[in-house]
Amino acid sequence: MSLPVPSDGQPITIRDGRLVVPDRPVIPFIEGDGTGRDIWRASSRVLSAAVEKAYAGRRSIAWLEVLAGEKAFKATGTWLPDETLEAIRRWHVAIKGPLTTPIGGGIRSLNVTLRQALDLYACVRPVRWFNGVPSPMKEPQRLDIVIFRENTEDVYAGIEWPAGSPEAKKFIEFVKRELGATIRPDSGVGVKPISPFGTKRLMRMALKYAAAHGRTRVTIMHKGNIMKYTEGAFRQWAYDVAKDEFGASTVTEEAVGSGGTPAGASADGKILVNDRIADITFQHLLLRPDEFEVIVTPNLNGDYLSDAAAAQVGGLGLAPGANIGDEAAVFEATHGTAPKYADRDMVNPCAVILSGAMMLEHLGWGEAAARLTAALDRTIGERIATYDLARQMAGARQVGTAAFGDALIERL
Ligand code: NAP
Repeated sequence: MSLPVPSDGQPITIRDGRLVVPDRPVIPFIEGDGTGRDIWRASSRVLSAAVEKAYAGRRSIAWLEVLAGEKAFKATGTWLPDETLEAIRRWHVAIKGPLTTPIGGGIRSLNVTLRQALDLYACVRPVRWFNGVPSPMKEPQRLDIVIFRENTEDVYAGIEWPAGSPEAKKFIEFVKRELGATIRPDSGVGVKPISPFGTKRLMRMALKYAAAHGRTRVTIMHKGNIMKYTEGAFRQWAYDVAKDEFGASTVTEEAVGSGGTPAGASADGKILVNDRIADITFQHLLLRPDEFEVIVTPNLNGDYLSDAAAAQVGGLGLAPGANIGDEAAVFEATHGTAPKYADRDMVNPCAVILSGAMMLEHLGWGEAAARLTAALDRTIGERIATYDLARQMAGARQVGTAAFGDALIERL
């Protein structure tokens, strides 16, 4: 099956580690399963309109559909065709809707497979509040962070065996015999690898992001007090990158001393790098959210933290994300396929649209991204919302997915 590449589309290339983006780049998209269909229809219109408005027609996106999930399975008999992975590698930047995780069939998760196959090592999740969005917090606007979650290591590496399996037994015996450590013989076991390679490239990306976006604080979040050689080492390797590679533009909290002032108050124009233990970070994010700007953290911590933080500003309907590597980036919402709402023109497309805004920023098309986020602020501020937000807002005008897209386009 050959892909219908738009004939007037141009390739994005990478030179010296940077994207070179033509005026009409080919961008592959995966529509997504379940509600993905409704969401993509609305989102692609909104994203194209934002680009058109921002650059008066000088720039546009040549969308290229690539298959994954149920649509791929129906058409090709495979859930994630090689052609899809090849296309994302070739065109470098892609966007996707949510995918059903097939039950059985040897694939743990299509999303995890995509991340591993393309080595998308950073999961980047900005979390901020939009005007008018219902939130459990009194001052949700105080939270405005970007989480950099390591995407390939930690207990998510998938190196684990069930209790009672021959592999688990062998592993437990090995650990006892060779390393003198005792694990209860009926345990299931998993391995938690964290490397300097994986940690350092993530920290590098976070520091570059902070510098490019005027962020002044980067916090390493870890549980190194307990897991010394994995999370504790993560903390140390992340500091090493700040000191060894970004010494001219960063300063550590240890060096300036927090002295009871809000973290970062005396960083002298440099990016302040500090670290916090995971449990206290969850507390502080609730109690003193404005002390955080960029958070860099191992895989599992990052997974928990990004959902918790999203709840503070209104939940998953507005939580965008990106999986970024050196050769490719795939932008995607945090939520799943919400199958009970499939093809009912009901769900909130904001998370995919905001992921699209991140994608536009990644392309260097910040003007289009800014228009999108401003339009979203205005639309929800006027109490126009899909069911999920409308049910929590007094006096809201509830609209469907497509009509919400129209309302956004009118306000671009
Ligand atoms: P889910 O699809 O995220 O849905 C859970 C609930 O969240 C929905 O019932 C709905 O709440 C709300 N929700 C999710 N997306 C929404 C949207 N766009 N607008 C408004 N409300 C939204 O999670 P799930 O039910 O656990 O997972 C379903 C499938 O998605 C599974 O196959 C799972 O593997 C897959 N999944 C895929 C991804 C991905 O592709 N990145 C991520 C997570 C899950 P209410 O019922 O309260 O209205």
